[in-house]
Amino acid sequence: MKFLERKEGTLQLINNAPKAYPGFKNYVRKKIEEEEKLLEGVLFADDIISAMHSGYKNALAGYLRSAEESNRFIIERASLSIFVSATEEKYLELLRERQWHVLVDEGYIIRAASEGIGRIKKATGRTLKLNKYSVYLMGAPVCRKHLKFQKYSMSIDELEDNLRVRIYAKCKFCHRQADYFTLAMPKASALIGLAEYITGKSTTNLMRIYANISRVIHPYGFTDLDKDKVFTLWARDFLNIISEVNNLFNLVDSSRGSSNNGKLTGKFVKNGES
Ligand SMILES: [Zn+2]
Repeated sequence: MKFLERKEGTLQLINNAPKAYPGFKNYVRKKIEEEEKLLEGVLFADDIISAMHSGYKNALAGYLRSAEESNRFIIERASLSIFVSATEEKYLELLRERQWHVLVDEGYIIRAASEGIGRIKKATGRTLKLNKYSVYLMGAPVCRKHLKFQKYSMSIDELEDNLRVRIYAKCKFCHRQADYFTLAMPKASALIGLAEYITGKSTTNLMRIYANISRVIHPYGFTDLDKDKVFTLWARDFLNIISEVNNLFNLVDSSRGSSNNGKLTGKFVKNGES
């Protein structure tokens, strides 16, 4: 289907999407099954798989907004998987214990990848590979008095020992010498950019699709489209997304006979090796 290769945003194409024929629906169904196998062992695979299924179901039923929400969730979870696998398991704990938003509400946020990476540069005077220590430097420096989330913080002494760099930072609240760094929570778009920083692979496409989908969800919604057109619109985004996600995860469809047997990134944390 030529339509699937078009690069315009979903918004531009919304009125001339071709209707999906049954064979195409089966093809997408098969792609989902293949993807389930590829994702085995990847952190957050279950979330991604459930989003693929709900996206498919909603697209079949003609609910574009809900189907595209599943697509957006796949992008967010895949980026989060890469980020957490490369950095600090405490982020998993923050999700599990539903503390993530508490820190967000207190202002511990990374709004863009450049903001996070910029903070590392500011604290150390250089750029560092992102790992379980350097990730703290993307967070907030605090003094002993203003340390509120000890569990999600690391002392500057410990960071200096492990990273072998000198760290200069002032408390976010009182501007006195900082003693700790508290983790900050990346926003979804920051996560996509950080996935690029970690893997060294471009996320330009993923970012573009993400922005497009977000516009479909808000403000437009599109609740009055023909079911079969909805399926095609959703499927185009979905197939692009899984191809980008597989590239980020180093997952290659074995039926295509590539020698790459990657699957390294996402497995890390789930197997408890970090
Ligand atoms: Zn302070």
